[in-house]
Amino acid sequence: MTHFDYDLFVIGGGSAGVRASRMAAQAGARVALAEEWRMGGTCVIRGCIPKKLFVYASHFADDFADAAGYGWSVGEPKFDWPTLLANKDKEIARLEAVYTRNVKAAGVAIFADRAVFEDPHTLRLVNEGRAVTAEKILIATGNRPTRELGTSHVIPGGNLCITSNEAFHLAALPKRILVAGGGYIALEFAHIFHGLGVDVSLVYRGEKVLRGFDEDIRDALHDSMKKRGLHVMLGCEFTRIEKRGNSLYAETNKGHVIEADAIMLAIGRAPNTEMLHVEKAGVDLGKRGEVVVDRYSRTSAEHIYAIGDVTDRVQLTPIAIHEAMCFAKTAFEGKPTAPEHMNIPSAVFTTPEIGVVGMSEMKALGMGHTIDVYKSTFTPLRHTMTGRDERMLMKLIVDQKTDKVLGCHIFGHGAAEIIQVVGVALKMGATKTQFDATIALHPSAAEELVTMRTKSYSKVPA
Ligand SMILES: Cc1cc2nc3c(=O)[nH]c(=O)nc-3n(C[C@H](O)[C@H](O)[C@H](O)COP(=O)(O)OP(=O)(O)OC[C@H]3O[C@@H](n4cnc5c(N)ncnc54)[C@H](O)[C@@H]3O)c2cc1C
Repeated sequence: MTHFDYDLFVIGGGSAGVRASRMAAQAGARVALAEEWRMGGTCVIRGCIPKKLFVYASHFADDFADAAGYGWSVGEPKFDWPTLLANKDKEIARLEAVYTRNVKAAGVAIFADRAVFEDPHTLRLVNEGRAVTAEKILIATGNRPTRELGTSHVIPGGNLCITSNEAFHLAALPKRILVAGGGYIALEFAHIFHGLGVDVSLVYRGEKVLRGFDEDIRDALHDSMKKRGLHVMLGCEFTRIEKRGNSLYAETNKGHVIEADAIMLAIGRAPNTEMLHVEKAGVDLGKRGEVVVDRYSRTSAEHIYAIGDVTDRVQLTPIAIHEAMCFAKTAFEGKPTAPEHMNIPSAVFTTPEIGVVGMSEMKALGMGHTIDVYKSTFTPLRHTMTGRDERMLMKLIVDQKTDKVLGCHIFGHGAAEIIQVVGVALKMGATKTQFDATIALHPSAAEELVTMRTKSYSKVPA
């Protein structure tokens, strides 16, 4: 019998902490979890789920407009922001309750409190003011939006801006919004607001949005945004923000002064390790404040692990959950299991959306593969009658030597749903010949993936 209060103490009730605590408890451990805010964490409360609900809301504008080509006449559509917020909040509260119930049902003790380290085995519950001890500790504290450019450049007036956290609770829908950032969160919110009728400008300091994605996808999204009427300003960043009257004014390093009703910063996220006092437990942090872990998610302190966004590996919910399951196997089931970070299907919920799994052309070449590329752009059947100028892009990157499909990239309606299943094929090591041998489902956009017979071009690594 150990002399600790718990076998495991989990700090953070987000995707990572919830799954890890439940699995450890199911394996027979005595587990407690502290959550300082709301059970479910970023994904459930102010990330994936409310964001996707907003994405659905934003799609209706296209649907109403497209319906005319199919013979429908719709009166002038009206949108009510407070109704969307209220219904979203109701659904999020329902999910939060489900999460809490499931964790409790697994036998985990929940503390609605902030936990900080006091020594390697002791945590202080800040509000309650008492200390608890545990044999093993899991740091799953996630991350938060930053208002800083780079590592230290605080934008003067940055406090006048919102981040994704506040975007979910705006009292009124702005008429004009300026979004800063070129990552998926910036792009998704730019499209959400645009779909809801807001005049959207996007400012990004890079030369192209979505760094790290395949170049064709980046170009396709950029063209689509221009066609849709989003104002995209690349190669510039804010130097100062000011409020005059009811308007905000953002100055950029290129000399622009942009007027807006709201400015949203989506310029990066910082790990939640400030004030956690990990130094008292011998846990090392990296340059960005992330918890440094080995391949089994173990920190520099042998009995302390860290998973999810706080480790700054891959910041996605399914990865946080996967790391949680690997942690439980390693620490409580006697089966050391390292999480895999390969072939992760991911989506960007712009309009239309992006679905990606595996390597981009650049990545494949960088890893020494000689590649054959199969590429197709076409007007989806739906838009032959809507008149909407929207093209779909599909691209397969194939290793010339082994015939294995290394990457699949889709830009177009339904891309996220399609890419999940392509992920299964890549996980199984599918070859292009096997893609070609698969019977097409007709008529669908996805059939293009199994009917691209002629390669577009080949490339050899530099
Ligand atoms: C706007 C947005 C959209 C996103 N969309 C997607 C998407 O479409 N798909 C996808 O896969 N991922 C998406 N993500 C990412 C996803 O939400 C995260 O990868 C995931 O939530 C990480 O889970 P986590 O458990 O590591 O961290 P979190 O979910 O952030 O949980 C950490 C929890 O720890 C708590 N905490 C922190 N410090 C303490 C402390 N000292 N004591 C007690 N509690 C503490 C926090 O309150 C928080 O609830 C999105 C994120 C954002 C911001």
